[in-house]
Amino acid sequence: MARSGYQWTTNTFLKRAMDALKLEEHYETLLVMPRREVRVELAIRMDDGSLGNFIGYRIQHDNSRGPYKGGLRYHPKADIDQVRSLASLMTWKTAVIDVPFGGAKGGIDADPAKLSVLELERLTRRFVDQIHDFIGERMDIPAPDVNTDQRVMGWFFDQYTRHHGFAPGVVTGKPVALHGSLGREAATGRGCLIAIREVLAAAGETVDGTSFAVQGFGNVGSWFARLVHAQRGKIVAVSDVRGGVHAGDGLDIPKLVEHAKATGSVVGFTGATPITNKELFAVDCDVLVPAALGHVIDENVAKDVLARYVLEAANGPCTVHGSDTLEQRGILCVPDIWANAGGVTASYFEWVQNLQQHRWTEERVNEELELHVVQAHRRIRETMARFGCSMRTAAFVLAVERVKAATDLRGIG
Ligand code: GLU
Repeated sequence: MARSGYQWTTNTFLKRAMDALKLEEHYETLLVMPRREVRVELAIRMDDGSLGNFIGYRIQHDNSRGPYKGGLRYHPKADIDQVRSLASLMTWKTAVIDVPFGGAKGGIDADPAKLSVLELERLTRRFVDQIHDFIGERMDIPAPDVNTDQRVMGWFFDQYTRHHGFAPGVVTGKPVALHGSLGREAATGRGCLIAIREVLAAAGETVDGTSFAVQGFGNVGSWFARLVHAQRGKIVAVSDVRGGVHAGDGLDIPKLVEHAKATGSVVGFTGATPITNKELFAVDCDVLVPAALGHVIDENVAKDVLARYVLEAANGPCTVHGSDTLEQRGILCVPDIWANAGGVTASYFEWVQNLQQHRWTEERVNEELELHVVQAHRRIRETMARFGCSMRTAAFVLAVERVKAATDLRGIG
């Protein structure tokens, strides 16, 4: 395995936790390797009549604590290395946040920006046609991730019902009008806000008056920015794939959201200075929030970070060396498997509602989300004290202990 790939990163973090716990060697096979990998060819008719050819993956990493669970991303760089790493992260994320699921991830190597809506729909439906026997509301439950949203989940649900009949719990992150949950769309950003609020509180600080730089303005980054702004936190910089904007006194986030909706990017927002994505990482602020893709913070980026905290709203934003450099420099890195677990937590609430054919209020979703994120923080802090380790290793230790307990209790047979 390449010593720089995504899997290597996740497995290195995982290994540190397994070493701290002094686990016997056979757990390496049980906890590191995915249980099932599905790779499918996706041939679709493009609008111009030509043939579009894509590759789709669904990697099911572990289901000892419950059905496989995790998002589906559409990205040209979604390959087996990346999807395996993300599937493993989901196992540890569901365990840390304590929802009864395992971990999985799906990916299709497509660039949705280059597809029409109809092509996107055909691609989604073809993927479901190819994998429907491997998923199910008690087997494996996909959800949105990078470049997929509630509309995609709606098509996903509809196509699955054509094969298996009504089963809304087969996928989460659906539109509210189609068996989705109130509060799900904002949940990942909200979970990130609760996580950083708890971390700041532990140091006697508050969101009010703290400054943030957010890389990525998709679902997670934009909701996080909105919620922070509403709590009087100061968002001093935001970027997306096209570039970024900076304002030392704080950006007007509601206006920026409108601008991004109208133009498709934060670039060109008036009353702010343009910056590059690279510059965003070195912006003077308290909290740096990578909320887009993986491996954006390597040792070169990490050495220039001025923030005191890095909040991993994205999955796997730090390389091993990036993460170690932050730690050596005394910057507290709040790990993805806890920081961004609000999304899958609300997915769990959606799944519960679907199975019970019952709707929760948004207040209930938000209250229960709060309980899960706060409780996980307490357990992570206890684990940090117990092992004298980083917050990331503590989160992995806590997760591994829970997955190991379920694995042992089930037995190998
Ligand atoms: N894609 C999100 C994540 O990485 C959500 C997964 C889910 O809700 O199943 O956590």
